[in-house]
Amino acid sequence: MRILDIRERSLPISRYAGPARQGALTTSVVAIITDVVKAGRPIVGYGYASVGRYAQSGLIRERFAPRLLQAPAETLIGDDGNLDPFKAWQAMMTGEKPGGHGERCVAIGALDTALWDIAAKAAELPLHAHLTGRLGAVSAETNKVRVYASGGYRHPRDDLSLLADEMRRFADLGFFNAKMKIGSAGLDQDLRRIEVAVAALGAPGRLAVDAMNAYDRSAGLEAATKLSPLGLWWFEDICDPLDFETQSALASAYTPPIGAGEALFSAAEARLLARHGGLRPDRDVLLFDPVHCYGLPGYLQIVEAATLEGWARQAFWPHGGHLFGLHLAAALGLGGAEVTPFAFQPFCGLADDSVIADGYVTLPQAEGIGFETNTALKMLFRELAG
Ligand code: MG
Repeated sequence: MRILDIRERSLPISRYAGPARQGALTTSVVAIITDVVKAGRPIVGYGYASVGRYAQSGLIRERFAPRLLQAPAETLIGDDGNLDPFKAWQAMMTGEKPGGHGERCVAIGALDTALWDIAAKAAELPLHAHLTGRLGAVSAETNKVRVYASGGYRHPRDDLSLLADEMRRFADLGFFNAKMKIGSAGLDQDLRRIEVAVAALGAPGRLAVDAMNAYDRSAGLEAATKLSPLGLWWFEDICDPLDFETQSALASAYTPPIGAGEALFSAAEARLLARHGGLRPDRDVLLFDPVHCYGLPGYLQIVEAATLEGWARQAFWPHGGHLFGLHLAAALGLGGAEVTPFAFQPFCGLADDSVIADGYVTLPQAEGIGFETNTALKMLFRELAG
C-alpha cells in the first residue's frame, strides 16, 4: 500500500444548529488517498480535526502531510501487510521536540484519524473491531456504547425556550444524559438555565454542565458552592486547564463529579492533572479528545498515564462528538462518548441510521470509521477526495 495524495481543507463550523449562526470556529478536513483499489474505488481515509478549536491547514500542508508522503512506503507497513498507523505516526513526528504541543497535536490527530480509517477499510472491518484485534481485545463483550447528547449553548434570543426545546429533543432521540454550557451568562442566569434544562430532562442526575474553562478561582468557588447541592451528572471545564492549583481547590469545594482534561493534549499534561488537579478517580471524568491529543497513539499514552495514577478506563469519556471517539470508546472499554446531535454542522450526529435507546448507541458496522454513513459527511469527504 502506498499513500498517493493527502488533501486538506479548512471548513467553518458553527456551535449552533444552522451553519450561519455565530461561533466562528473552523476545522481541518483531510482525505488520504491510497493506491489500493477495492470494488473499483481506491481506499481513501477520511478524518477531521474534531471541533472546538481551529483548522490546522499550515501544519498539515507544510509539515505533517509531506513527511507522510516522503516516507518510504515500506516503512509505513506492518507485518500483516496493512498500513500501520503507529508507524505513520512516528513518521509524522520525526524531528518534533517534546513539549510545545500548541495545536500541532490537532493536525497530527486529524491525519491519524484518516490513517486508522484506511487501516480498518483495508482490513474490511469497522474500526472498533480492527482496534480490538490490533490492541488485544480489551473491550467489553457488548455491541453498544454509552453516549450523551451535548449542546445547550446560550442563544442571543429566546434562550430559555430554545434550551428546553433542545433538551427535550435529546431525550426524544433516546439520550438519557445531556450536557449544556454555562459560564457566559452570569451565575444567577445559569442557575435559571440549569433549572429549565433539568425540568426538560426530568432529573438533575441526567444533566452535566460545562463552564468551558471560564471561571477564575473566586468565580469557580462561587459556582461550585451554588451547584454542589443540585445533584448534577458532572461539572466540566471549570477553570483554566493548566491551573492545577485552582482545579484542586475547586475539587475540594465540589464533592459531586467533575469533568476535566478536554483542553490538555499530552501524557505529561495528563499526569500533571492526575497528580495535582485534586481529582477523584472514584467519581470524576476525563474528557481528553483523541483527535486533539495526537490521535490514537497519543491518546493511548494518556490512558496509560492516567491508569498508572489510579484511574479506570471507565472514567474516560472522549470529547468531540465524532465517530472516531465512539470506536475508541468501544475498543478501549471507555465509559462512553459525547455526541453533538445538532451543533457543529456538518459534523453533528453519528451515522444517518444510528439508533440511540436508553442512552446507548449500537456500534457502527460499516468498514472503517464510517463517516460515509452520514450523508452530509459523505458528500463533504467525497468532494475533498475528488
Ligand atoms: Mg467541555
